[in-house]
Amino acid sequence: MLLKKGNTGSAVKRLQTALAKQGLYIYLVDGDFGQKTEDALKAYQQKFNVKPDGILGDYIAGKLGLVLSVPAGAPANTKPVIVLTAGHSLVDPGACNGKFTEAGIVREVRNGVTAILNSRGYKVINDGTGNDNQALSKAAALVKQGKIAIEFHLNAATSKAATGVEALAQSKDKAICQKLCSALSSVLDIPVRGGNGGWKDEGSGQHSKLAYVSAGGIILELFFISNDAELQKYFDRKDQVFTAIADVLSENLT
Ligand SMILES: [Zn+2]
Repeated sequence: MLLKKGNTGSAVKRLQTALAKQGLYIYLVDGDFGQKTEDALKAYQQKFNVKPDGILGDYIAGKLGLVLSVPAGAPANTKPVIVLTAGHSLVDPGACNGKFTEAGIVREVRNGVTAILNSRGYKVINDGTGNDNQALSKAAALVKQGKIAIEFHLNAATSKAATGVEALAQSKDKAICQKLCSALSSVLDIPVRGGNGGWKDEGSGQHSKLAYVSAGGIILELFFISNDAELQKYFDRKDQVFTAIADVLSENLT
């Protein structure tokens, strides 16, 4: 879902009411998305480290308690359980670029996608909430509790030019890996790596991560943290990244 300046109607009224509750919108709730509504939304986006573009996406809508678009599908109680975990741990930051760590970013992705899926009625199991991030052995033990399990990672290379998205999984998850890679490729405007639509099988390296894949989970390497431009695109399009992943999951799991 998207709401932006120029939109009108009941959805805008709900947005204005929610922003008013946050003390950010002190004007008439008139259902007319104008400059004052945009300014209030921008202030709210900044609180969550989302680029303040004044456009309401699913992540911020979830934070505001607004569920403006619930995709048609199975009733909530029959929706599949999803496991989403963050790579690395509190004592292992993974790859770094300046002050940014892989572990910090993938925790944020885990939390953002989880918030959107929760708002759509999915039960999501995580390896910790907020800033918590349990060790790989604990994350791998969660895999079997979900219909699907994804652990988020970022790629890194010595060459700053290395680029793209890929996913490591057993062949049973090849199709969903390709859909996730394709969605991230279009949101971040980065290539899908390799000749298999971004999917790589279990035996193709990344030895330290195989425990998760052997247990039946997917390792999703979202982008290269070592590539400055790619990292910046992530910061600019965070909300769309979270939404793209949540959309692939809600559209493809039954
Ligand atoms: Zn990693």
